[in-house]
Amino acid sequence: MNANESLNYSLIVPIYNEEKTIPELYRRLSAVMDSLDGTVELILINDGSSDRSLEMMRELHQQDARVCYLSFARNFGHQTAVTAGLNYSRGTAIIVLDADLQDPPELIPQLLEQWRQGYYVVYARRTKRRKEGWFKRFTAYTFYRLLRYLADVDIPADTGDFCLMDRKVVELLNRMPERDRYIRGLRAWVGFPQTAIQYEREPRFAGEVKYTFRKSFALAINSLVSFSKVPLRLATYLGLFSAFLALIMAFLVLYWRFYQPNSPLTGMAAIIVSIFFLGSVQLICIGILGEYIGRIYEEVKGRPLYTLAEVVGFER
Ligand code: UDP
Ligand code: MG
Repeated sequence: MNANESLNYSLIVPIYNEEKTIPELYRRLSAVMDSLDGTVELILINDGSSDRSLEMMRELHQQDARVCYLSFARNFGHQTAVTAGLNYSRGTAIIVLDADLQDPPELIPQLLEQWRQGYYVVYARRTKRRKEGWFKRFTAYTFYRLLRYLADVDIPADTGDFCLMDRKVVELLNRMPERDRYIRGLRAWVGFPQTAIQYEREPRFAGEVKYTFRKSFALAINSLVSFSKVPLRLATYLGLFSAFLALIMAFLVLYWRFYQPNSPLTGMAAIIVSIFFLGSVQLICIGILGEYIGRIYEEVKGRPLYTLAEVVGFER
C-alpha cells in the first residue's frame, strides 16, 4: 500500500444495455483517468446487452488502449459482472462504479486519497437519493436496517457497490468460491480498516433502471440468506410459539368441554382456524428451509459463475 510503488488503478464498470450513457460515461471517466498519477485500466463488462453497448465498447478499446472489456455470453446479473471485473483486474487499487453515472467518477480521487491514508476499503455512502421514487427509497431504507440487524457481519447501511478496494481485499474476494455474491457483504466480511465518504446519489443519466423490483427483491433475499442464519432460527421460534399456543388451546378446549359444553369455541370454527394457522406456520418454515437448501444445491453443482464470449485488452 505504498503510494509510490506501482500506481496501478483498475476501474470496473458493469454494463447492461447502456448505449445512451456510455459516451458520457467515457467522457467523464477519461477526464478522471487523465488526472490520476499512474497507469489505469478501465474494465468494462458487457452483461449480455442487446443494444449497441458491446460495439461501443469495441470502439472505445480501439481508440483508447486503457479500455479493456469482457463480454458475457448472456445476462448474468450485476453482482456477477462486478465479480468478473474483479477476477480480471490487475490494479493495486480497484474501483467499482455503475455505468449510469449515479456514482460520480469525480469522487475517485477522494476514494484514492482515503486509500493512501491506509484504508483497505473505501465505500461511498449515499446521503440522499435524488429523484428516486418514495417506494424505492422506503424499501431501500428498511432493507438496509433489517440487514444490519440480522447479518452476522456489520454491513454498512446506505452503501452500494461504488467503492475502492485494495488489491489484498480483491484477492480475498476472488478466492471466495461462493456463487451468491453479495459484494457489499463480502467486502465487509473480509475486515481490514474500512471507511466511508459521503455523497449525494444523482439520478440516472439516461436509459431505464435495470434493477427491476424483482431483481432488487431477489438481491435482498440473497443478501439476507447469505449473511444471516437468523431466518432459520426464526423457524424454530415460530414452531415453539405455535406449540405454546396449542398447549393453551388444549387446556381451554378441555375446560369448555367439561364446564361450558354449549360454547361455540369447541366446534368447527376452532378446528378450522387452528388447521390454517398450523398449516401456514409449517409452510413458512418449509419456505425458509427451502431458501437455504436451494443455495446449498446451487453451490454443490459448482458451475462456473459466468461464461465469457470475449476477453479483450488484457494482454498488456
Ligand atoms: N447492470 C448489469 N446487469 C444487470 C443489471 C444491471 O450489469 O442485469 C448494471 C447496469 O448497467 C448499471 C449497474 O448495473 O451499470 C446498476 O444498474 P441500475 O442503474 O439499473 O440499478 P440501480 O441504480 O437501481 O441500482
Ligand atoms: Mg443506477
